[in-house]
Amino acid sequence: MEKTKCLIIGSGPAGYTAAIYAARADLKPILYEGLQPGGQLTTTTEVDNFPGYADGVDGPTMMEDLKKQATRFGTDARWGMVTNVDTTKRPFKVNIDDGKEIEAETIIIATGATAKYLGIESEEKFMGGGVSACATCDGFFYKGKDVAVIGGGDTAAEEATYLANMCNKVYLIHRRDELRASKAMQKRVFNTPNIEILWNHEVKEVVGVEEGFNKAVNGVILFNNKTGEEKKIDVEGYFVALGHTPNTDLFKNKLEMDNIGYLITKPDSTASSVDGIFAAGDVQDKHFRQAITAAGTGCMAAMESERFIGEQV
Ligand code: NDP
Repeated sequence: MEKTKCLIIGSGPAGYTAAIYAARADLKPILYEGLQPGGQLTTTTEVDNFPGYADGVDGPTMMEDLKKQATRFGTDARWGMVTNVDTTKRPFKVNIDDGKEIEAETIIIATGATAKYLGIESEEKFMGGGVSACATCDGFFYKGKDVAVIGGGDTAAEEATYLANMCNKVYLIHRRDELRASKAMQKRVFNTPNIEILWNHEVKEVVGVEEGFNKAVNGVILFNNKTGEEKKIDVEGYFVALGHTPNTDLFKNKLEMDNIGYLITKPDSTASSVDGIFAAGDVQDKHFRQAITAAGTGCMAAMESERFIGEQV
């Protein structure tokens, strides 16, 4: 059976950064890329907030760069999905979808989280052309413009207030007549003059123009679920803020998670509830969810993994 000191699951900024550090520490890591090689950033266009790219970079290029850097030091990056992990004894037995079995002394979980969308066809159509699930990443492109935020929880409240700082007007579209967000966040929303809440409204369709590969949102058609009335609001940005689903199905009942499914790590550490298994990036972070914070915890996970291996001898 194939053996490795360090198996990394996931190929976003957390996974690749962990790989760079683990490879340079001579752990000869094997990294499985998963369903979406490169992770969430491959679905965005311009990344302007990752330090070091003075002129910005597009998401897929940045992920290619990270992969190149990880493989330059000997990371064995592979296509494929991990289908099972036996967390009950070390070395951990890991199954891959091609039938392979690997024994890993340590595992770094960097499987990320998936943004929730309403799932309507027009959302998908305008993805990257006005539809976004991250105000911190894309808000800057809508400076001085009108935008819509969909949702009523803390994520929606946070995204709406963030966007209100730079946009002309923010419509907060919520399906009920009260917000789910914490009282403190609600207060911030209510006290922001350029946020207009459209209560009891749901999205029917995102509309815009499409010319070849260029697409641009110019409005959202809404309906009032109390009166049935339909209306169009003119906006150039459509921010889905329904929350995220951490990709942790593999670890249900195996590792400690919160009630949403985020992996719980020890304070000031990436250590999970099982010794030798570490978690980095969005899979254990519901607050920041940035490429740079994911990369930071990826680095921590690799260093902790190396230290753990050293302590076993
Ligand atoms: P939540 O599940 O709390 O909120 C999701 C929101 O989206 C709800 O208002 C929900 O409406 C709405 N929604 C879901 N599905 C649909 C749909 N199909 N159509 C229309 N609306 C829909 O997710 P959050 O990401 O906001 O928060 C998750 C957790 O993370 C919470 O515990 C939150 O407190 C925490 N968090 C904390 C932050 C902070 O402290 N700064 C920041 C972000 C999150 P409805 O209310 O009607 O169900």
